Amino acid sequence: MGLNVFVLTGAGVSAESGLGTFRDEGGVWTQYDLAEVATPEGFARDPAKVRAFYNARRENLAGAAPNPAHVALARLQRELAARGGGLFLCTQNVDDLHEKAGSTEVVHIHGELAVTRCHACEATRSDTGPLDGEAICEACGAAGMARPHVVWFGEMTLFLDEITDALHAADLFVAIGTSGSVYPAAGFVSEARALGVRTCELNLEPSDNAWAFDESFYGPAGEVVPAWVERVLGEGLRSPPTAPSPPPGPGPAARPGSWRRPWRWGSGSSRRAPWWSRR
Ligand SMILES: [Zn+2]
Repeated sequence: MGLNVFVLTGAGVSAESGLGTFRDEGGVWTQYDLAEVATPEGFARDPAKVRAFYNARRENLAGAAPNPAHVALARLQRELAARGGGLFLCTQNVDDLHEKAGSTEVVHIHGELAVTRCHACEATRSDTGPLDGEAICEACGAAGMARPHVVWFGEMTLFLDEITDALHAADLFVAIGTSGSVYPAAGFVSEARALGVRTCELNLEPSDNAWAFDESFYGPAGEVVPAWVERVLGEGLRSPPTAPSPPPGPGPAARPGSWRRPWRWGSGSSRRAPWWSRR
């Protein structure tokens, strides 16, 4: 049985890809109040302002490229799968840099900037162009409801059931570039520990919950992540750290053998395939 690794990534993994300019003086972040552009109430008050904000973020994303940390994690996913294991890649980032680096089935717990959602019926579609205030949702017919598929303040984090399943199936939990202060993600390491899963932190500096990790590596993501991936794949070849087999006969319930495909809006049979058009 191969190695199952749960990786949680945060802003630190994308910092070297040029997305940080948003917080610079005069950047988009400083020109908007987050309560106005990142809440359902703000969208209800001024949808045009909210769309303008996210359209600028989409433009910024289009110019960003994955860095060696994203590339190394994509390689880890491929090589673990080839060895009978797997990588459950969970990110707090709304950018698409993991996908641009070649990762698949990335679980975006805070949503995705390059996906448009209907605020009325929650149908989604991939979309890197500007959000269109005139668009009509072909799933439900609502007009003017196009919004980014990004979790706003006051909205629920996505995929929590899938994450619980993945933590139960994991041999190793790794947090990369996260502050350890944004919940629920900051609580995943404690869940992993409670399940007896080994924990590791890769970050620029110790996070707020650094104490919860069995081992830590500090430095720029573009350096420490590729080095760590080399180490995991090297160790994995020599002696895969698998969990002990359950006792024969009645005993603890078997660990899930595989991860479910991440659920996403618009993919279920109960919803029509999302499709948008202009009036
Ligand atoms: Zn709709």
